[in-house]
Amino acid sequence: MNPAAWVERHAHRMAGAPALAEGDRVHATWGEFATRTAGAATGLRDHFGLSPGDRVAIVMRNRPEYLEALYAVWHAGLVAVPVNARLHREEIAYILEHSESAVAVTDADHAGDVESLVGTVASLKAAVVAPGERWDRLTASSPSRLIDRRAEDPAWLFYTSGTTGRPKGATLTHRSLLMATLSYFADIDPVFPQDSVLHAAPLSHGAGLYGLPHVAKGAVSVMPRSGGVDGDEIAALLGRWPGMSFFAAPTMVKRLAGDRAIADADLSHLKTIIYGGAPMYLADLEEALAVFGPRLAQIYGQGEAPMTITGLSKADHADHDHPRWRDRMQSVGVPRTDVEVRVVDDGRELPPGEAGEVVVRGDVVMTGYWHSPDATAEALRDGWLYTGDIGSFDADGYLTLRDRSKDLIISGGMNIYPREVEEALLRHPDVKAAAVVGRPDELKGQALVCFVTLKNGVAASPELKEAIRSHVAREIGSLARPDDVRFAAGLPKTRSGKIMRRILKEIAAGGTVKGDTTTLEDFTVVATLQSEE
Ligand code: AMP
Repeated sequence: MNPAAWVERHAHRMAGAPALAEGDRVHATWGEFATRTAGAATGLRDHFGLSPGDRVAIVMRNRPEYLEALYAVWHAGLVAVPVNARLHREEIAYILEHSESAVAVTDADHAGDVESLVGTVASLKAAVVAPGERWDRLTASSPSRLIDRRAEDPAWLFYTSGTTGRPKGATLTHRSLLMATLSYFADIDPVFPQDSVLHAAPLSHGAGLYGLPHVAKGAVSVMPRSGGVDGDEIAALLGRWPGMSFFAAPTMVKRLAGDRAIADADLSHLKTIIYGGAPMYLADLEEALAVFGPRLAQIYGQGEAPMTITGLSKADHADHDHPRWRDRMQSVGVPRTDVEVRVVDDGRELPPGEAGEVVVRGDVVMTGYWHSPDATAEALRDGWLYTGDIGSFDADGYLTLRDRSKDLIISGGMNIYPREVEEALLRHPDVKAAAVVGRPDELKGQALVCFVTLKNGVAASPELKEAIRSHVAREIGSLARPDDVRFAAGLPKTRSGKIMRRILKEIAAGGTVKGDTTTLEDFTVVATLQSEE
């Protein structure tokens, strides 16, 4: 099933209905979208001599042309390589080179970087800027026939955001994308043509994948003009594009829940906020539910199993009177319809209550990492994807994630999960945000270092430091008493809300943040750490 077939289908059935929008303005109807993608498919093939299976990178911020490029690539039977547009030139170069992309479609903001790679990246024949004259010429080519793809053919190389090491390209086939789409209908929401999806988070990641079920059902894809999550804009767009759903990282949900424009907005047109990609702390979730009502659904997934491992449904969120509601809200929900999920230790399945590595099996799972046999062999074993996440099931089948296995801290022979300490820190009245890492320690193996940002008006002091250490010990036991508490002005996070623990570990071990934090991919908060030592 080639997703480009959906576009053709809607063009026949509802040619005049909006398909792509920028803010409140219609960019293309289904008829126009289909003509442009089928035209660009011809253009890509004829101008650059591409044949089915060749890779085309997309390096642009969210804009309607993004989806034109994506569906044109599929229409021509090519493989899309959506690249996080916030990466630096060298990182973009790495991905283009590694995927052997033949063409890169980009936008004016990234044209300088991407065009400069033609001639440097051996495989790259051309960079096409969209919108732009060349893109217009390509889309105006005479429409070509949709190229059939087999279920096992690659469709999307999903380069992992990589909080450590080099990004790896999870190879997602047409089958993976179809399963991710169908399981959205099975577990999150049905979608109708009168609905809309707002792409506030980068299309190169989760948001792009959530776009699929909406295109499948003929809903309109809306690109915010702000390019991100903006309360005023969302409040205004809700009136224009009802039945709206969007994907947001937990940090974005938290920000929106505190936004004045959202508080004043008529949320009756808001259908669903899908959040995931990083932990959502209970206090933040409760605040968000108070603002948005039962419109939140959580997903746990990774590029390797595109957004489909477990889910916590809207119904679960609404079931407030359930005796285990609070526990469930701290979980990542139950296995999605199309996959099997287990918790294992050394390949042995663990019973409920015991923590081990989460593994997943199903048609949604990648076929491997592009041109990386060693990494593939490590991640895919006996038909299961080893996620690198540690979690445990409860007796009802809800999975709670602890941490990435590599983030586990072993201190004095005890396993300490950073997330558990972070939850305890957040329950301290003066703490706004927290991140916990291990530091090598001769005596204990690893010492526990907490980075903490304080609420407005609270001053850092040695007394407060002691109070925070005692608070954690009281909450989760004296063995988890932090060895060190550092006050920070901000925490380094990726755009998807993941804490960059690699950096914090470096600082905890005595290193410093490099002056130029912009060399670190994906920063939204620059770490300006002030140790109170
Ligand atoms: P990525 O492939 O960049 O989307 O990152 C996937 C990783 O993000 C997973 O392996 C988890 O460690 C983390 N993650 C994804 N969803 C959730 C969630 N709902 N709660 C906590 N962590 C999550």
